[in-house]
Amino acid sequence: MARTPAAPRGTRDILPEETALWRRVESVARELSDRYAFERVETPLFERVELFARSAGETSDVVEKEMFRVAGAKGSEEERAEWALRPEPTAGIVRAYIEHGLHVQPGPLRFWLIGAMFRYDRPQAGRYRQFTQWDCEVLGDPGPMVDAELIELALRFYADCGVTGVTAHLNSIGDGACRPAFREALVEYFARVEDRLTDDSRRRLRINPLRVLDDRRLDPDLAAGAPRSIDFLCEPCRQHFDAVRSLLDGLGCRYVIDHRLVRGLDYYTRTTFEFFVAGREGQQQALGGGGRYDGLVEALGGRPTTGIGFGLGLDRTIMAMAEQGIEPPRDGALVAVVGATDDLVARLRVCTALREAGVRVRPDGSTRKLGKQLEAAAKAGARWAVIVGEETAGDSVVLRDLDAGEQQELPLAGVAASIAGSGAA
Ligand code: AMP
Repeated sequence: MARTPAAPRGTRDILPEETALWRRVESVARELSDRYAFERVETPLFERVELFARSAGETSDVVEKEMFRVAGAKGSEEERAEWALRPEPTAGIVRAYIEHGLHVQPGPLRFWLIGAMFRYDRPQAGRYRQFTQWDCEVLGDPGPMVDAELIELALRFYADCGVTGVTAHLNSIGDGACRPAFREALVEYFARVEDRLTDDSRRRLRINPLRVLDDRRLDPDLAAGAPRSIDFLCEPCRQHFDAVRSLLDGLGCRYVIDHRLVRGLDYYTRTTFEFFVAGREGQQQALGGGGRYDGLVEALGGRPTTGIGFGLGLDRTIMAMAEQGIEPPRDGALVAVVGATDDLVARLRVCTALREAGVRVRPDGSTRKLGKQLEAAAKAGARWAVIVGEETAGDSVVLRDLDAGEQQELPLAGVAASIAGSGAA
């Protein structure tokens, strides 16, 4: 037999038994996006490499190591890899905002999307090369209320998905006014212990020392003794951070201050946050994260515009739901339409009429014996069978309760009501 090519490493097929949980998570995200008055946008799955390099920063993992590059066809102008599959959604949304001149609309603007992201990383549990994020971004709202609102929204999302014990980790990394002093303090601190840093961190120490703090392999003792960004905040950043905290307190949101939460992306300012199930705070266990990026729109060529957003990983949300034993929503009762005669047109007509009445219908298109069709229907999970061709009156069908093994003849128009009335729908 011919060999079947396998799915690419780091990707997964999501099969029907798992899609029920996906449907729930996506519908919670869509419904919350709507209720929190965000508007849906879609951006391309690939963009110019330069966009991500400028937004994420040349020294970020995403740009240095994880960019999934895309080349044009052989002989095309873009035969060299000029594009990359999007590793994160913010850059594309901000590009669209600038490109379409959306700043003229009365702001702040609130956008959301759900979509696939791609990172060429070493695959492991909870880390894939293709994964899905729900993303919310707010442009033109300097906060601090919106910072708290987004954190509250993310926590509500996890709660509505049924995931319990989720805590927000919170930090502030200041802005252009106060971060230089923090950076200097970090360089001074880490330079003294340079031999205990990883190669990556040593290289980055002088280019982007904040990245040393979020190096996954940083010695925890070194991390614990490192300078803390909140000790360096300038007055406006301090006030912003205090306001976010007291708003979260007022809302009763659970959060802890996490000094290592500096985020790997250069354009982040002030508030940064991440979400974890308490007690499961490992590297591949962040359920989602986000923060303020007041410098990004300008860095990408737009007018100075503040921004804040989050990206929540749906794959990891679903893993947490599965770990916590959350059952997927149950589908409505399934009705099989089977035939006592070979009249397939009559069967399809009955299917159509039942579907119009809102019934979930799966037809049997075979002409095997009725008994065999009923057996197959029960095996496929049908609770009821509608038998076409056994009835005596013109517009009637036979409705069979496959669990009880009882059946009755009734008008086709009465089937949906009869099933709903039985309480088994
Ligand atoms: P980040 O932009 O890296 O903070 O990612 C935001 C969220 O997306 C993370 O908290 C994860 O839930 C999810 N995520 C990021 N990278 C991956 C990946 N490689 N595989 C699965 N989920 C991911």
